[in-house]
Amino acid sequence: PETVDKIAAGEVVERPASVVKELVENSLDAGATGITVAVGSGGRDRIRVADDGVGMNEGSVRKAVEQHTTSKLRDVADLERGVSTLGFRGEALYTIGAVSRLAITTKPRGSETGTKLVLAGGEVESVEPAGCPEGTAVEVTDLFYNTPARKKYLKREATEFDHVNTVVTRYALANPGVRFALEHDGREVFSTTGQGDLQATVLSVYGREVARAMVPIEGLAAGPLEGLSGYVSDPETTRSSPAYVSTYVNGRYVRSKPIRSAVVGAYGTQLAPDRYPFAVLDLDVSPGTVDVNVHPRKMEVRFGDGEAIEAQIEKTVRETLLDHGL
Ligand code: ADP
Ligand code: MG
Repeated sequence: PETVDKIAAGEVVERPASVVKELVENSLDAGATGITVAVGSGGRDRIRVADDGVGMNEGSVRKAVEQHTTSKLRDVADLERGVSTLGFRGEALYTIGAVSRLAITTKPRGSETGTKLVLAGGEVESVEPAGCPEGTAVEVTDLFYNTPARKKYLKREATEFDHVNTVVTRYALANPGVRFALEHDGREVFSTTGQGDLQATVLSVYGREVARAMVPIEGLAAGPLEGLSGYVSDPETTRSSPAYVSTYVNGRYVRSKPIRSAVVGAYGTQLAPDRYPFAVLDLDVSPGTVDVNVHPRKMEVRFGDGEAIEAQIEKTVRETLLDHGL
């Protein structure tokens, strides 16, 4: 790939966690019911995402690693209708492949043989028949081996792994009906049941102590939101990072400082300074209310009537806490 491709790759691939995000989104788009994410050394050495989704035949996997190829039709109207598939520009695999060694092993459902495609620095090295389970496994090794400047910006393993963990947790919480497993250096960090139960998923990803501290959102204060569901923690169960306040719009993760502030605001002075609760909140929004001028990479959205939504969230969460004597 040309230098310009490598620079463009930086937009998608900033660190191991961004690779994980793209691969997990592809697995979800492929209709996976189980997704295993295994990383080595925080993802600096190795990232593997395996799914039991629809898989690809040889022709499709060859196409998948080319630039601007997507099997997913997507336009602004799609976004407006409500976000269905997560990929949209057909460049994630191509850009990841340009800055790593990439191996894809895949077999379509109901097919006899699979295919293994190996790519290094964006060049196809081999395509061979492979015996493998139905679904797709993508393995990325030596991330940024050919872009040393970018490699220098990677943080130590524990930090990179924290980012990976945050991403996988986010998707696990958004998809309680999908079995997620996360492994680091051969050890299981968490696995969810995929039984469709958010409370059980919270227990799997955050552990017993946090799960016990969570109370379900009940009732909805007046405002533009059509629904608000999920869980928030008691005011004592907090962390110093806002990463544990996860917000979703119609089931899709979004980053929103104002929404996070509304959640934090609901706790008032009960929350110690610079502490954040655990929260998993799904906002049920009618499509017209979300500003489609979103940055899909950064997962940011804007709402038509943001202040009214924030007030509604703050009030709903406060009332939930009061209802539970918190
Ligand atoms: P996008 O997701 O935007 O389409 P990607 O580069 O992420 O672009 O993927 C390119 C194509 O490769 C996808 O459109 C899809 O057809 C195929 N693909 C990628 N990952 C998987 C997977 N895990 N299972 C099945 N097909 C996949
Ligand atoms: Mg994609």
